[in-house]
Amino acid sequence: MTPAERRETLAAVAAEAAVCTRCRLHEGRTRAVPGEGHPDTEVVFVGEAPGMNEDRQGRPFVGRAGDLLVRFLGTIGWRRDDVFITNVVKCRPPDNRDPEPDEIAACRPYLERQLQALDPALIVTLGRHSMGRFIPNARIGQAHGTLHPVDPATGAAAAMVYAMYHPAAALRSTDVERQSYDDAAGIPAALIEARRRRSPGLAANPARSGAPESATR
Ligand code: SF4
Repeated sequence: MTPAERRETLAAVAAEAAVCTRCRLHEGRTRAVPGEGHPDTEVVFVGEAPGMNEDRQGRPFVGRAGDLLVRFLGTIGWRRDDVFITNVVKCRPPDNRDPEPDEIAACRPYLERQLQALDPALIVTLGRHSMGRFIPNARIGQAHGTLHPVDPATGAAAAMVYAMYHPAAALRSTDVERQSYDDAAGIPAALIEARRRRSPGLAANPARSGAPESATR
């Protein structure tokens, strides 16, 4: 896919999600939140669902949890514009409840198409619903901070997934917050490993593999 085709696909997904009625979550949304970020990034963050602020603004992770995510990124020298940020479901569940399995399934084609277009080397999951999409049957308490291969059926053809707690959980627990800072510190190494698995020849030649601290191609 060319960079222009990638941008077209991301815009098409956003336009379709804005008027989507595939699941009951459309009934209570103010705006769909398809996701945003650098279209040429190597790293996609996937959260669970939009909250109140996201629903109002149509943008992902713009509340307190988003501020904390930006702080996590800042500790490794990244900005939110360097990566792509989205959610498993694109519309806000009522009262911020967890998304239901049938809602996640209904919304799945949008995330698949985003991952096909972005073709990331690394997916960072935020929270257990997102993690469950990429690492089935894992427990967040054990899986956070670990790296796993991604099933290409998710839409990401050649990616690794790195699990983190949802920043909202870190806001509720200083222990989770501390662990999340540790996990964030592991993201650049996870990207380097994901690049190595994806293109062993390139990773063997640092001059061609891009700066490890950069999240974009
Ligand atoms: Fe459509 Fe996804 Fe919104 Fe459900 S959550 S209405 S599937 S965009």
